[in-house]
Amino acid sequence: MSQKKVKKNQAEQATYARFEPHMKKDYTVLLPTMLPMHFSMMEGVFRAYGYNTVLLKNTGQAVIDKGLKYVHNDTCYPAQLVIGQFLDAIESGKYDTNKLALVITQTGGGCRASNYIFLLRKALERAGYGHVPVLSLNFSGLEKGSSLELSLGMIRRLVAAALYGDLLMHLVNQCRPYEKNEGDTERMADKWTAYLKNELHCGRLYKDRDMQKVYPKIIRDFASIEVEHRSVVRVGIVGEIFVKFSPLGNNDLEKFLIHEGAEPVVPDFVGFCLYCIYDMLMDYKLYKMGGKIKAKGAEIIYHYLVRRQRRMIEAVRQEGSFNAPTPFDVTVASLKGMIGIGMKMGEGWLLTAEMIELIEHGVKNIVCTQPFGCLPNHIAGKGMMKPLKEKYPDVNIVAIDYDAGATRVNQENRIKLMLANATPVPFRGKHESMPEEKTAQQAPIAEEKTETKEKELSKV
Ligand code: SF4
Repeated sequence: MSQKKVKKNQAEQATYARFEPHMKKDYTVLLPTMLPMHFSMMEGVFRAYGYNTVLLKNTGQAVIDKGLKYVHNDTCYPAQLVIGQFLDAIESGKYDTNKLALVITQTGGGCRASNYIFLLRKALERAGYGHVPVLSLNFSGLEKGSSLELSLGMIRRLVAAALYGDLLMHLVNQCRPYEKNEGDTERMADKWTAYLKNELHCGRLYKDRDMQKVYPKIIRDFASIEVEHRSVVRVGIVGEIFVKFSPLGNNDLEKFLIHEGAEPVVPDFVGFCLYCIYDMLMDYKLYKMGGKIKAKGAEIIYHYLVRRQRRMIEAVRQEGSFNAPTPFDVTVASLKGMIGIGMKMGEGWLLTAEMIELIEHGVKNIVCTQPFGCLPNHIAGKGMMKPLKEKYPDVNIVAIDYDAGATRVNQENRIKLMLANATPVPFRGKHESMPEEKTAQQAPIAEEKTETKEKELSKV
């Protein structure tokens, strides 16, 4: 972008409503929904640091209609939903718009997710709420002066919330399809989410040693839920981050699969965070982007997160009742040259890696969630289905499009067709443990170029 354009953009930005630090005590700050358990605990952390946050729960056609009204219909479906949810909440009359701020995430990558903030501001302006400030939640130094202030303590608690959220998500999905008494799993999940939210709010249970003590308690509690030993089809869910995780984005896909007698297997949220950090390291290594200091910082955070994720996974393995999630470094290694590591727009190579990881762990049935307007996911998701089917002939993958015009019944019928071709896996007493994982170092990476990049990366 030319200097002239940068200055013009900065001048335009200066006209946006700003969130000054003194507003913290009076303003209500709205958070969009994505991962209900993760975000609920994160809300507790934001509140601990003085933000009067409210996690939005509004859903349904009204949200979609608001999105369509204020966002161009050619824009990515997640942007329509997030912005629609904000506008729907604002127009509900529940909040004083003179004391209201909104938070939106920015990935900092090359994809449009970094630009949703501008679409949101434009939509607010059009709807007559241009005075409502928007805060950016990002880890890339974007939107200086309009971003949520993140201290080290806050980040540590947010990391804990993400890890607890991933653990709960895995446990819930492995209990709900088998529970004897309907609702037991949900009650257990609500109990732990509320407890951990409060602990994180009060500054407890976020340190590594404390988390290692609490993980076995959570896992044992879920293992105590009464279950019926029935055969189920295990179905992996991959795709663009919002439609993969958000019940609003994917029409309650996890619940639908459970209703159909399947067990959803959803790769974790921390994996996506690690993917974003890994890309920063690659950017520096391959293109010298971002500078050495930033790369060094990213490397430290990367290893810190990988270590923390492995401890959670280890706790699941040791308890022995549930399948453990896959460590991120194993996910990276599973690529084996199927797609270039430089393909990093949107979910990029992670989407393909997650499909391979699922297949290699026996989850041969996969729903690939594709939002309307998403180019990178059509390449790394739909576009990779043919090579994956050639390599693993027994896989059963279906790409489902999510957009404002797609009907739920159509989406569900296509998934039912996929389930009709799937083979159920017998439930054997306790859940079957996953085979011993190879680490990234042990796993052979077929493509020489990828191997070289891996080695180079470790030296950054
Ligand atoms: S990943 Fe897809 S949906 Fe998300 S911002 Fe990029 S293009 Fe849009």
